[in-house]
Amino acid sequence: MYKTYGYAAHSADAPFAPFAFDRRDTGPHDVRIEILYCGVCHSDLHTARGEWAGTVYPNVPGHEIVGRVTEVGSEVTKFKVGTLAGVGCMVDSCRTCPSCLEGLEQYCEGSGFVGTYNAPDKNTGGVTYGGYSKSIVVDEAFTLRVPENLDLAAVAPLLCAGITTYSPLRHWNVKAGQKVGIVGLGGLGHMGVKLAAAFGAHVVLFTTSASKVEDAKRLGAHEVVISKDPEQMAQHVNSFDFILNTVAASHDLDLFTALLKRDGTMTLVGVPEHAHPSPAIGNLIFKRRALAGSLIGGIAETQEMLDFCGEHGITSDIEMIRMDEIDKAYERMVKSDVKYRFVIDMASLKETA
Ligand code: NAP
Ligand code: ZN
Ligand code: ZN
Repeated sequence: MYKTYGYAAHSADAPFAPFAFDRRDTGPHDVRIEILYCGVCHSDLHTARGEWAGTVYPNVPGHEIVGRVTEVGSEVTKFKVGTLAGVGCMVDSCRTCPSCLEGLEQYCEGSGFVGTYNAPDKNTGGVTYGGYSKSIVVDEAFTLRVPENLDLAAVAPLLCAGITTYSPLRHWNVKAGQKVGIVGLGGLGHMGVKLAAAFGAHVVLFTTSASKVEDAKRLGAHEVVISKDPEQMAQHVNSFDFILNTVAASHDLDLFTALLKRDGTMTLVGVPEHAHPSPAIGNLIFKRRALAGSLIGGIAETQEMLDFCGEHGITSDIEMIRMDEIDKAYERMVKSDVKYRFVIDMASLKETA
């Protein structure tokens, strides 16, 4: 074990505070990474504030991690000291169940995947601590290679927001000639817009924030609809092949299922604190529409996504913050005032810890 430090939520309603803790030493298959940047996901907020059951305090969130490798275990083959590396939402899984063997570790049927934070940590006996911290030790099998040609800070959000939108867009085979909706222009939504546009789809962005219309177009949306305006919504009835809904709050799903074509699918990735009202089943039955869900993406697909973003020059639009600005950032996230992902500059942690 070695001592490191970060920022932790000590209870659901306390501000973040510096926190010192132990990490394991670098094992044969591990890499130790000095964290340079960490993105701020709405899941961090849901967890830190106890909006989902089961938060263990102190909680160190952060699963959009990029940094530089400072130590490698004797068996490590993919990384050398000095190379860039990324860590997303998972740091381990059973590796033997059918889902793990298919490279879909996020759906591990064995012990379930080990989350980067707030998951039981068999190495320390406590819980895992995430990327709001100085360094992390991760098995190379759950560590990603990071494209060298992109702005590193703007790569961090790809590790969750990027893969969580890439995976369903790929799984439902989004391509040129299709009309695709993205609901919500936050961290996930803005990556969904960029990726769906890169796949060649006609992209329509649904937002509740009139102030985001011009940005959505700049990010790649061909059309923007204010979802609170029934007249604008009515113009799109029965027209979508696929809708990816990233909204972080409970809302009326029927507004969007009504916009799907026959056989269209709306996939939900948002995990709001309070349940959505039950959807109208008739809306689904009479057009054989589907309502689905999707969870992040497997390690192999995350690497594929990072390589795709490297080739196409795709990164997140970020606002850099200092570690001690995290509470303010959360307040803005609750108000949908994020353009379009906060990223913590970990150099600022030294000054505050
Ligand atoms: P975010 O940056 O806060 O963006 C969420 C967006 O939802 C907001 O910017 C806003 O967009 C819209 N929104 C918020 N409140 C709304 C309301 N009451 N009604 C309608 N729209 C509203 O959050 P994020 O980091 O993208 O995460 C989104 C959700 O996905 C969270 O619940 C998060 O936990 C979840 N998540 C799931 C996975 C997964 O694997 N399934 C992975 C990561 C995150 P507009 O201003 O454009 O309306
Ligand atoms: Zn996330
Ligand atoms: Zn498994």
